[in-house]
Amino acid sequence: MATNSNTYDLSAFWMPFTANRQFKAAPRLLSAAEGMFYQTPDGRKVLDGTAGLWCVNAGHGRASIAKAIEHQVMTLDFAPTFQLGHPIAFDCANRLAQIAPGGAAAGLDRIFFANSGSESVDTALKIALAYQRAIGQGTRTRLIGRERGYHGVGFGGISVGGIVNNRRMFPLLPGVEHLRHTHDLSRNAFSRGLPEHGAELADDLQRLVDLHGAETIAAVIVEPVAGSTGVLLPPRGYLERLRELCTKHGILLIFDEVITGYGRLGTPFAVDYFGVKPDLVTTAKGLTNGTVPMGTVFVNRNIHDALMKGPEAQIELFHGYTYSGHPVACAAALATLDVYQQEQLFTRGAGLSEIWANAIHSLAGLPNVIDVRTIGLVAAIELAPRAGAPGARAYEAFVDCFERGLLIRVTGDVIALSPPLIIEECHMDRIVEILGTALKKLS
Ligand code: PLP
Repeated sequence: MATNSNTYDLSAFWMPFTANRQFKAAPRLLSAAEGMFYQTPDGRKVLDGTAGLWCVNAGHGRASIAKAIEHQVMTLDFAPTFQLGHPIAFDCANRLAQIAPGGAAAGLDRIFFANSGSESVDTALKIALAYQRAIGQGTRTRLIGRERGYHGVGFGGISVGGIVNNRRMFPLLPGVEHLRHTHDLSRNAFSRGLPEHGAELADDLQRLVDLHGAETIAAVIVEPVAGSTGVLLPPRGYLERLRELCTKHGILLIFDEVITGYGRLGTPFAVDYFGVKPDLVTTAKGLTNGTVPMGTVFVNRNIHDALMKGPEAQIELFHGYTYSGHPVACAAALATLDVYQQEQLFTRGAGLSEIWANAIHSLAGLPNVIDVRTIGLVAAIELAPRAGAPGARAYEAFVDCFERGLLIRVTGDVIALSPPLIIEECHMDRIVEILGTALKKLS
């Protein structure tokens, strides 16, 4: 099949989360990347408005990360972590423990390695269930997610997730409940900063406690800022209230920071942004700057210690992946954390967030725009759905922007932006210019 000046056979690759036939009829290919830009096979530059898929936080083509990966492959390409260990996995865990969400006070300094956000989520859910059982609360088997939550595609993740298309085709875990989502444009449209209204939606947890009994509930999982369903910001006070209710009822609180982790909000983690301390935090993506798949669960030390009981020869948690603590992923993570530290990328977004917000909010008056929301270096522009064709407007904007040299991400009728944290003002101007042009063209 011809694409631009190159020819590719696109038939064998069954593409994930893609309308395969539509894509293959008119493909968009990316063949190289550097800094803030992708390049297409015919040499066109495309400004990366999405850090790949929310993961390339330090920008593309970082030489020090590439070097660390190469060195590790040639030193120790793979070694198991089941009843064996290798130094770099311990180094990586110790380094992560030092920068853990919430600092030392939060106690999230025990690290379980996975290979993706989905695996991190399923790992966290299992740890929560195992912990409750270990402390004599074995009746606590119920898990609670939230409508419009995204927690990856494992059976655990889709069960607690709240995206109907990801759920309707598959059997789900029993005993899972959902809090209502917090997206309320009737009260919060065009908010600057966190939405003012909706903290009371956290009381949904009390409703579920009253309905089922706290003694049946193991954990609640939420994204502090929901990303994949369209950048939904927590109403002011919502996360604090959720924390209070979880503490009151002995329910573990899991923050899924797969997109908010590693500097996205202008703080190292969302935990640091909101000052709310969960019991477990899942991360992935930015951990290795997208170079090598890796996920982690940051676990509160008390949870970990509660499981380190019983005969010493007994495996404490029957869970893990062949590639948990993969040496190459650990090398990539350590080199990535060096870059974040050297260039102070965990906090760079804080200095730019006002400029970013001003730039993106300038799109507010354009046709069909029904909301603009930003936090840190994240933004969403929500469009009114076209009658009878929900999602069509945003998809058309996505295709048009790509042709004009800008990568945006769309979910339903929401356009989401999450550029690499190395972004400069000139890139923001370019994003607004291209996106504004595309929005003006939409019918
Ligand atoms: N959790 C959240 C909040 C996510 O945004 C994502 C992916 O976008 C995941 C989990 C799943 O991560 P992965 O695609 O690496 O499995």
